[in-house]
Amino acid sequence: MVDFNAITGQDTPSLEHYWMPFTANRQFKASPRLLASAEGMFYKDVDGNPVLDSTAGLWCCNAGHGRKKISEAVSHQIRELDYAPSFQMGHPLAFELASRLADIAPAGLNRIFFTNSGSESVDTALKMALAYHRANGQPTRTRFIGRELGYHGVGFGGISVGGIGNNRRTFSQQLLQGVDHLPHTLDIANNAFSRGFPAHGLEKAEVLEQLITLHGAENIAAVIVEPMSGSAGVILPPQGYLKRLRDITKKHGILLIFDEVITGFGRVGDAFASQRWGVVPDLMTTAKALNNGAIPMGAVFVSQDVHDACMTGPEELIEFFHGYTYSGHPVAAAAALATLDIYQEEKLFDRTKELEGYWEDAVHSLRDLPNVIDIRNTGLVAGVQLSPNDEGPGRRGYKVFERCFRNGTLVRVTGDIIAMSPPLIVEKQHIDQIINTLGDAIRAVG
Ligand code: PMP
Repeated sequence: MVDFNAITGQDTPSLEHYWMPFTANRQFKASPRLLASAEGMFYKDVDGNPVLDSTAGLWCCNAGHGRKKISEAVSHQIRELDYAPSFQMGHPLAFELASRLADIAPAGLNRIFFTNSGSESVDTALKMALAYHRANGQPTRTRFIGRELGYHGVGFGGISVGGIGNNRRTFSQQLLQGVDHLPHTLDIANNAFSRGFPAHGLEKAEVLEQLITLHGAENIAAVIVEPMSGSAGVILPPQGYLKRLRDITKKHGILLIFDEVITGFGRVGDAFASQRWGVVPDLMTTAKALNNGAIPMGAVFVSQDVHDACMTGPEELIEFFHGYTYSGHPVAAAAALATLDIYQEEKLFDRTKELEGYWEDAVHSLRDLPNVIDIRNTGLVAGVQLSPNDEGPGRRGYKVFERCFRNGTLVRVTGDIIAMSPPLIVEKQHIDQIINTLGDAIRAVG
């Protein structure tokens, strides 16, 4: 058992009982990293050391930390209306938020279903796709197509369409039936150090046509992809790839779902990647930066067409047997409205566009460091891929991550890839600090 008091000298709870998500628990508890507060671009750890946040928490805090407007909205709302039943009842804020989201949504995605997380948004979108086809008299359309290395959360739907082996293997006998995966688009041999969309790999979209030939379009409900794979290490789609998926799905009556849990809310320059990259799906999943990570919340954006198909039938019947106790939670909604105000007042999505060139040059300046085999970027996000060391996959990456943290910068590590996605309030001097700390760590770890 780890004696936390002995480690920090502070009166803090035991580390024993909390089973941490996606964490090497035993390793962590032997050498914990605990954050105590946050303001602007910085966390503070429990010893009072500042830690520059290059990851917007976990891709959430796009408006930066400690935003008074959000905390005041939350504190007001929890006093005013702490909770309202979400089934057969409503409250004005959820409707207001849905309208505000529809205003900034990609064209036509103007119906909003609230969830509490990205995982729930994904499972909701998959169920909607099935409900849509059934309502349209095509109940055989039940198959899904995801993509290798895709991350769509941890629900059974999400891990089934997701393509990260570690997240699936333990549960492999219980995954959804009838799911295929497109090949991933990571191709270091041909595309290393691309800036933005890589030039090679468009032909990988054609595998979709092959899968349609194999299974029959009449059996396929939807294709789901992240416009940019975030969790697998910032993998950009090849030029023209997303449009090709859109054209093929449209031709065959298959729904296209974009998982914008990471790319949503300004990360790549417009409100959504769909807008910046000019390809509009039928459904779009979001969470995270929707309310700056303040209170758990997600939202599925749905085309009016899909929505309307599900609304037919006798009025007194519930249209869609799905929803969450906390769907559209008043406190989460208040946080989201305040967050949208900040994004708009401070024009933070434009800020991504203003800074993305500087960011791109800065991250690519690491190119000649030892063991750097690829750098990928778009908007205010980047991945630096290192070669694995002799100890095995992920060990070098983890050491770099740890060293960055000890030297005052939080980066994200996934395998041997260092991912960065700073809050959109980032200044050039922060970018310099992130890159210097990361560069020093890569050199020191060797
Ligand atoms: N989809 C994508 C694209 C994600 O990046 C994530 C989280 N990183 C999720 C879904 C799952 O979100 P959550 O952890 O909120 O369930």
